[in-house]
Amino acid sequence: MPLPPEIAAQPHPELPNYSFRDDSIIPYAPGPLHGGGAVLTAQSNCPFKAFATARLAAEGWNSAEAGLTARQRGQLLHFVLHSVWAGPPLGIRSSGELLAKIHSGLSSFVADHVQRVFRDKLPSGVRDRMPARYLALEHERLIALITQWLEYESARVPFQVENTEVPAAVTIAGLELRLRLDRVDRLIDKTLLVIDYKTGDVDPKDWNPPRPDDVQLPLYAAFAVNPNEELGGLVFANIRPGQNKFAGCVEDAKSTLLPKLRPNTNLVKRPLTPDQLFEWREQITQLASDFLAGRADVDPRAFPDTCKNCGLQTLCRILENRQPIDEDAETEEAGDD
Ligand code: SF4
Repeated sequence: MPLPPEIAAQPHPELPNYSFRDDSIIPYAPGPLHGGGAVLTAQSNCPFKAFATARLAAEGWNSAEAGLTARQRGQLLHFVLHSVWAGPPLGIRSSGELLAKIHSGLSSFVADHVQRVFRDKLPSGVRDRMPARYLALEHERLIALITQWLEYESARVPFQVENTEVPAAVTIAGLELRLRLDRVDRLIDKTLLVIDYKTGDVDPKDWNPPRPDDVQLPLYAAFAVNPNEELGGLVFANIRPGQNKFAGCVEDAKSTLLPKLRPNTNLVKRPLTPDQLFEWREQITQLASDFLAGRADVDPRAFPDTCKNCGLQTLCRILENRQPIDEDAETEEAGDD
């Protein structure tokens, strides 16, 4: 049915369109930047995304979820591991102390930490909004997940936890960033291991130049570790039910991390090298310089995949200028040829 005249759009003359090329670049004024190292990952993935999130404070939409969001669950896991490795009086600080807890009852030790985190750190209002039984299940899930992870870590070569949730202020090419490292361990050869907890998919190939998909850990390793210390490696602690693993680059993973690693595992085949650190340093410095210079072109690293979870499509208007390639149609055409 036609709309009633009072709410129908008023007719208007065709508006003229003018095309112009916008090459303006507005450098970023010096000063600290909020958002940590994510801005450099964004700069690598799409310069416009870094500009929009760090300078315009643009955000994608969060979808509504019935329970805790993935982000909230990740934060709770980080809080529990921070509490576990915080040292005395309630936590532990070394592989030796972990082995002692395994003998005296690891699960009840973890349960105490989960209980404390749920009491003190649950986001405000969650306890009123969400059913008690659901929260009890989350509580149990976290105990099982972290207990299994600590059992996995107990097979490591002896280590000491230096610090957790470590704040670091770094300046790269003039860009000031405030970072927070999940954990730094002292390995048996006295070198440092930078660890980042992740519950989703991880792939250290994402760190490779040019245009790495993720620069967070290389950024920590290359800029946030005390230059008077020697770096032994950087790894994701990939915490997933039944699939716990370390993934990353370690100088000598078999002697300093996990003695039972097979020779064909990536940790053994692709050790950390000084050249690799140098390359990351160069790449990250270039990204920081580009951000400071105001480079903000809409240039996704791998269209359309890079854009899938970005959430800024209505702002950058990528889909008005570029259409995803229909791979099925392409294949069929190629077959016809
Ligand atoms: S949707 Fe794609 S092109 Fe747009 S800002 Fe995000 S990554 Fe860049």
